[in-house]
Amino acid sequence: MNEPSSLVRSPRIELPPGDAGYYYDARVTAGLHGEIRVSKAVADHCTCGGRPPYQIFTGPESEPRWCPCRPYRMRVARVNRLIADSGIPERFRFRFLDTFIEDNPNGQAIPGAARLKAHVSTLIDRFKLDPAMRADRQQNGMRETAPPKGLFLWGVPGNGKTHLACIALNELIFSSARPGKFVGISRKFFQTIRHTFDEASPTHGQAGAIIENLSTVPFLVIDDLGVQRDTEWEVETLYNLVDARYSERKLTLITTNKDVNEIKNLAGGRIYSRFLEMCTIIHMTAADYREHYKKELEL
Ligand SMILES: [Zn+2]
Repeated sequence: MNEPSSLVRSPRIELPPGDAGYYYDARVTAGLHGEIRVSKAVADHCTCGGRPPYQIFTGPESEPRWCPCRPYRMRVARVNRLIADSGIPERFRFRFLDTFIEDNPNGQAIPGAARLKAHVSTLIDRFKLDPAMRADRQQNGMRETAPPKGLFLWGVPGNGKTHLACIALNELIFSSARPGKFVGISRKFFQTIRHTFDEASPTHGQAGAIIENLSTVPFLVIDDLGVQRDTEWEVETLYNLVDARYSERKLTLITTNKDVNEIKNLAGGRIYSRFLEMCTIIHMTAADYREHYKKELEL
């Protein structure tokens, strides 16, 4: 009877509107990042001291029960693990929308930045777990039969495309507590896949598993698309991945330094036609970003 699953649950905490029960505290106490914490409303209801396994005793003879903080602390642990496993480069981990730059260093608004931020913000809203927000959407009669569109960000190198894609991915994982992956479609990516066909390789036979995982993960960032050598096999591998995500109606974000016209020619146009259906195509032109992010990465 003392199996944890048989413990009595505590009543749910009534969270204030907009409170998901946890938040990202940007204050850096150790290492590179701040940390995810349970919100004040949850902390106020917690009597277990915030220590696993999050149980409380109400009297000397009584059975233990779960502390009401438990589902939120479990979610914090899950989100931390998902972000750690996402493949998001270290310097872009735990980057959220508040780190998105709308002004250049002279304090002038970067053209299109506010619109881009609003666009990403709307996308993230659709995946929020926050019950208040979900109810709100239902009341507004928003029909969500159409899958939300991802982003296809193209433009010259170093203008913040990867940063923006990572912001979106961090936010999506954080708000939904669902998995997401970041993958660079580089020569190394295709080498990794190719090695799985080599009998001597420790990853032999895993190509299917790698592609399957990337095809079905709820959120995927394909970074730096177009640096591959465009061999038929590579293009076909890429097409199969994109097509699988299209069929599964999974959210995909793509960045490329190539001109969009070059992408249009890949695989006889089949890849780009999928992108058109799955993504909003955005040309990121703002040269101001380059200076800003360069500065930031030197910190
Ligand atoms: Zn507690």
